[in-house]
This record gives sequence, C-alpha cells and structure tokens, in this order.
Amino acid sequence: MTKINHNTPLSTSHLQQRSLEAVWHPCTQMKQHEAFPLIPVVSGKGVWLHDADGNRYLDAISSWWVNLFGHSNPHINAAIRDQLDKIEHVMLAGFTHEPVVALSERLQKITPGTLGHCFYASDGASAIEIALKMSFHYWLLCGQPQKNHFISLQNDYHGETLGALSVTDVAIFKQTYAPLLRQCAHVPTPDWRYAEPGESAQDYAIRAAAALEQYVAENHSQIAGFILEPLVQGATGMGMYHPIYLQRAREICNRYQIHLIADEIAVGFGRTGTLFACNQADIAPDFLCLAKGLNGGYLPLSVVMTTDTVFQAFYDDKIAHAFLHSHSHTGNALACRAALATLDIFEQDQVIDANKIKAAYLNKIAVPLTTHPKIINFRNCGMIWAFEVKTDDPDFSAKCFQAGLKQRLLLRPLDTTIYFMPPYIINEQEMDLLISGTLQILDTL
Ligand SMILES: *Cc1c(COP(=O)(O)O)cnc(C)c1O
Repeated sequence: MTKINHNTPLSTSHLQQRSLEAVWHPCTQMKQHEAFPLIPVVSGKGVWLHDADGNRYLDAISSWWVNLFGHSNPHINAAIRDQLDKIEHVMLAGFTHEPVVALSERLQKITPGTLGHCFYASDGASAIEIALKMSFHYWLLCGQPQKNHFISLQNDYHGETLGALSVTDVAIFKQTYAPLLRQCAHVPTPDWRYAEPGESAQDYAIRAAAALEQYVAENHSQIAGFILEPLVQGATGMGMYHPIYLQRAREICNRYQIHLIADEIAVGFGRTGTLFACNQADIAPDFLCLAKGLNGGYLPLSVVMTTDTVFQAFYDDKIAHAFLHSHSHTGNALACRAALATLDIFEQDQVIDANKIKAAYLNKIAVPLTTHPKIINFRNCGMIWAFEVKTDDPDFSAKCFQAGLKQRLLLRPLDTTIYFMPPYIINEQEMDLLISGTLQILDTL
C-alpha cells in the first residue's frame, strides 16, 4: 500500500488514498505520489478550482488547455441540461440529430477555406488517426497507394495513440514505444528559439520552409501529407513560429501534391489570437483537426474537417470506397450542444477582441518576468505565454508545480518551460495574482 501525507484532514486523505489504490493517473509516475499528494477537486467556478479542504487554485493552464470560458460556465451548463432531457446520445451511423448538424454547419462557416464535411470522434488523438487514415485512403482511391508516408515538424506533438505518436516528435512520449511505431520524417522546426543569433523569426521560418521544400521535392511521390501544429508547438514547450512558415508550407504542399493537415487541437478557438491559427497566414488546410476547446473543455469531442475534393473521392456505389471508421461516441449530442453553447459565447461576447485587451494587460504586468534574471525567451502568442527558467535541476517541473500550489496557482511546467494558458474569462485581478504568484515561485526555486 502507498503511504500518503497525513497532515491533511481525514476526508481529503481518504479520497487521495482511494484514488491511488483505484485510479491509474495519466502522464504520471504513480510512485511520485508517495511524496506529492493528489489534489481532490470538489468544485470549480470560473478560473478557480476548489479542493476538499476549502483551498482554491487558479487554473492557469485551463486544465490541460481545454477550458475556454471557465469551470461551471452557466451558459454551457444550461445547454447541456437542456439537451440531457431530449437525447443524450444516439449512434451516428444511420441516425442524425440537430446538435451535430447545427455544429457542423457552424464549423463550416467559421473555419478557414471550404471544409465541407465534419467527421467526429472523442479525443484529439482519435482525430489525428482519422486525418491520417483519410489522407492515405484518398490517395489510394486516386490510384496512388505509394503515397503512404507522413511528415511532421521536429518537436511536434499530435497525441499518444500509435498513429498519432508516429507523427509526434517528443522523445519522452515516443522513445519507449518506438518499436511499435511507423517511421515518420520530421522536418526542421520553424520555432524561433532555434534561429541563429541575429536571425529574425521570419528569416528563420523562411529557412525552415526551404528545408521542407528540399525534403518534399525529393520524396513527394511517397508522401500523403504534412501534419503540423500551426504557430505554436505546445507539448514540446510552447515553441512559437512566424506565420510565413504556414504560407510557404501551403505553397509547397500544393506544388508537390501532398495534403496539409493542420492540427489545431490546442491552438484552435482563439488561443493564438485569431479564431484559428491558420487565419494568421490566410491559408486553408486540406484537413483541420479540432478538439480541446471545441466545447469549452466540457466533454470529449473532436472533429476532422476536410475538403469536398477529399469527400467526393469516397462518394461511390462501392461500400469499400467509404471511410469505414467509427467510434462509439461519434457526434455525441451532449458534447455537440456544449460546443454550440461555446460558439454562442464567442459570438455574443466578441471574445477575440476582448482577449486582445486581456493579453495587452497581462503583457504589461508581466514586465518583471520578461526582465527577470532567471528567465529567458519570454514569448506570447494570443492567449499563450511561455518562458524558460534557467535551472539545472532535473526535478524543476515537479518542484515548480508544488511551489505553484502553495501560491494557489495550477501551473504545470513542460520541463523548464513555465507557461500560462488561462481560461479566457480570467480578469485583471486574477492576472495580477498569476504574475505575483509566479514571481514568488521563482524566488523560492
Ligand atoms: C492535446 C493534443 C493532441 C491530443 O489530443 P487528446 O485529446 O489529448 O488525445 C493532439 N495534438 C495536439 C496539438 C494537442 O495539443
């Protein structure tokens, strides 16, 4: 049996103990919980998470980047309650329902380009699997079965199922499972932290695009698609890059006849300052993968949107030409209603404009961080901020997380990168707490 910290009240420690005995927590070395207690959350409101002991924590990373409009948002709650009394879920083969149709129509209108059909799944990684399979299958239907390789960006993250992990390039998640994965070439990242001294972010992005073109020119006959995280490479530590790379990537994919697959699972729905990251380069992908913020972080829901050209290739009398892929909860009605409520908030509250004002305020009060002697590479893109802490401590991330909890902040650094990705409803007073708490943490580490 695992020993736990008994300085906490009985009900809390009881729940921690039960969780450690019954739940296998994600992305966690369970043994570390001998030293670090789990936080039992009993409720949430806005940016705040409340634990069983009456403490509250500012959710500065939107509960793994999913939450947009706060926990227990009244508008989204009401939509789910209303839907619950109608139909919670029905299989989407042979059946349809208003929420999934309305959501698909609205997504068509707001996404870049003309992405005519929406294919739904539950998690981001499943959306990636769908995009990869569809892209390959499209080329197969076009008589080009040899186009069955994918390329992605160095340092990209696309999820942790085997197909998604194959196109991911983050060693800590990938290395162990390498024997199970398909080979995938990773082209140089445009992340400006890799620029030469004196080289601008834009020049570096152009140089990375030239490397992409060289690889594609030599290998395009075997390549089905190029998958990338537009503008911000999240899991690798919020690497940011210039939108010109996306423009060049779009041109190169057109020139050499390969699909451009945009993984906007993390960056979609306003995270980078525009509704979609692709908007900043004024490009449209052939496949767009969305999840996380799609329904404000409420319920598992992901979607792959694609062009009419792709859709039409599958449209045939032969069943074998169809995309015979499914997940049990495809198009879940509750999750779609939550997504519709989320899109309502975007429209009614003019969220993209409101976020610009919030981002400007946070940048203003973050000056002591930008000039802090322990910090390098302070950067911001829309509603994402990140910086590296100069430290040799291999346990920095875990220690910083614990120090954050003492300041009532939920921060979960990626290696030595501290980042903020708060719910959009964060107010100025809460931003003040975020910055002052982070400065305190830096003093203690
Ligand atoms: C989180 C994430 C995924 C995977 O989504 P899950 O819902 O966790 O499976 C894929 N791509 C990107 C860019 C992500 O941030």
